[in-house]
Amino acid sequence: MNDTSAQPTRRIPITGYFARIFTGFVSLLKGLKITFHYLSHPSTVVTQQYPENRATLKMAERLRAQLTMIHDDNGYHKCTACHICEQACPNASIHVAERAKPALSKTELDTFIWRLDSCTFCNLCVMVCPFQVLQMKSTFESSVYDQRLLIYNLSRYAGPTSTVLAKQADDEARKNAVEPRSVYDGPTALNGFFLAGIPKELLVTLDRKGEV
Ligand code: SF4
Ligand code: SF4
Repeated sequence: MNDTSAQPTRRIPITGYFARIFTGFVSLLKGLKITFHYLSHPSTVVTQQYPENRATLKMAERLRAQLTMIHDDNGYHKCTACHICEQACPNASIHVAERAKPALSKTELDTFIWRLDSCTFCNLCVMVCPFQVLQMKSTFESSVYDQRLLIYNLSRYAGPTSTVLAKQADDEARKNAVEPRSVYDGPTALNGFFLAGIPKELLVTLDRKGEV
């Protein structure tokens, strides 16, 4: 017995079929028009040719890619090692180490460890610092082959703040009150990880001192 309830197969109307081909063709021409426009007017191309344009590339200032510590023209900072930014960081990407034997103040910064590998660039540390010591920069080329190289020390020296140093008698007194620190001074175990010391060869080839 035949099943009379079965629905007949729905056919695409012949006019709709050709209409679709026509629409597709028009769409193709629209795309080609844009392509040929850029071919004949290369100055209007907005696509960035990275990394070929590295020398001229300008990133938006609002881009948060690298936490930095502001140092003045003399190379001194205003960090008092108050730990407020460390406490505000939601994922322990900051560790502030105090100097064991402060020279001129009650507490002095030794190293300011920042982990780029776990930072979410939320900017909280920058906002809570009472002395505007921290700043986010748009420096974005941070790729490395070794995770340990994503742990930075942001302070260039261990010692008192620029305000305290400014009160010293002369440059000799200021020089005696500080100890130089490098960008890879550390490392510090944070976030439950322990990362062993960085091989010396890597420091030589990937020395980024001065960039941070
Ligand atoms: S930007 Fe946010 S996650 Fe990164 S170090 Fe600062 S507070 Fe922590
Ligand atoms: S960067 Fe600012 S908030 Fe963080 S320890 Fe230094 S002074 Fe305190």
